[in-house]
Amino acid sequence: MDGYTYTTVRIEVVQGENDYTMRSAKKQCMHCEHPACASACFAKALQRDPKTGAVVYYPHLCVGCRYCMLACPFDVPKYEWDKVFPLVAKCQFCFDP
Ligand code: SF4
Ligand code: SF4
Repeated sequence: MDGYTYTTVRIEVVQGENDYTMRSAKKQCMHCEHPACASACFAKALQRDPKTGAVVYYPHLCVGCRYCMLACPFDVPKYEWDKVFPLVAKCQFCFDP
């Protein structure tokens, strides 16, 4: 994942003697019930919507400290490193704040 890719799928193919097995795992924000990213965000720029459960990012509140990136145990929030005024990037659950 990066500042513009919010979901990835990792595919692993294991070769057996006569066949093979394919495993896949999707990685994206899991919209945790108790999100560490939101707990770390003193600016309240990450908040869990009580109605939908989506952990939503409010860019106008973000100060760019990147504590959320350190706090998430799943290494989910990314940063728009290529921009002059970067924002945090992660799946928003297609939520329109
Ligand atoms: S960014 Fe990390 S801690 Fe925050 S809701 Fe998503 S998976 Fe959970
Ligand atoms: S970078 Fe923004 S969203 Fe992340 S913890 Fe800091 S203020 Fe909150």
